[in-house]
Amino acid sequence: MKIFHTRAALSDYLNTSKNNHLSVGLVPTMGALHNGHISLIDIAKQQTDVVVCSIFVNPTQFTDPKDLDNYPRPVEADISKLENANCDVLFMPSVSEMYQNNEKWNLDLSNLDDRLEGKFRPGHYQGVTQIVFKLFDTVKPDKAFFGQKDFQQFLVIQTMVQILKLDVELIMCPIIRENDGLAMSSRNIHLSAEEHKTALVLSKVLKHAQLDFDKKNIADLKQSATDQLNSVQGIDLEYFEICDAGDLNPVSDKSPGSIIALVAAKVGRIRLIDNIILK
Ligand code: AMP
Repeated sequence: MKIFHTRAALSDYLNTSKNNHLSVGLVPTMGALHNGHISLIDIAKQQTDVVVCSIFVNPTQFTDPKDLDNYPRPVEADISKLENANCDVLFMPSVSEMYQNNEKWNLDLSNLDDRLEGKFRPGHYQGVTQIVFKLFDTVKPDKAFFGQKDFQQFLVIQTMVQILKLDVELIMCPIIRENDGLAMSSRNIHLSAEEHKTALVLSKVLKHAQLDFDKKNIADLKQSATDQLNSVQGIDLEYFEICDAGDLNPVSDKSPGSIIALVAAKVGRIRLIDNIILK
């Protein structure tokens, strides 16, 4: 696996691949890699010739500086996981390689960034689009691979691609879960064994909502999920919403073509998100 730390060296290398008519796939990550990330690499390997994984803990998407400081950075373990997955290229830039001081970025995300995650993490999606734009600009991938785990992020990036008319195909990859149902996340390593158990209610309520979808109306589905989440000690619920999967507007009936349930909660100090497609 080739490892690059600068944009110039990476794009030089990729230009040669492109000149040889090889397609390029990009998997952006913040590292602390788990099998969810590796599944993205595997899908990218199936669909493109040269797979670039980026590891960059992007400061502009963090609302809480402590969260940024505490974000895990197990670089050596990440490199060996990527090597085992036969990833072709790792891009691991420094903050100063990606940002100048006080850079401005403000993209109109058609209100997608003022709800759900956007409401609890103001400015988060401006930071996400800012860095993903820079990564797209450097790698110029044919395809970029993102997880359904961050469903709203996928829609936000899709919106950016449409607004800025970027020439990249976005691929959404399924959520990878632990055997007990907990969605894999780099933050899970901070959960104690007891918190891990507590956190299982997130995937459970989503699964229940999916099983009950044909039996209950939207209000009842939402009510029973919220009741169940609030009944568990140690869960600090931020939101449970049932939304149109196209625009993330909350739904009151089942008419939209695709419907998704999304949840965010703090378990101890750890903030977790999860979702499931209901229709
Ligand atoms: P992150 O490192 O958390 O920024 O995630 C990098 C990419 O991996 C994003 O596209 C995430 O949606 C995706 N991802 C994170 N967790 C999972 C998971 N459990 N299953 C599938 N994809 C995931």
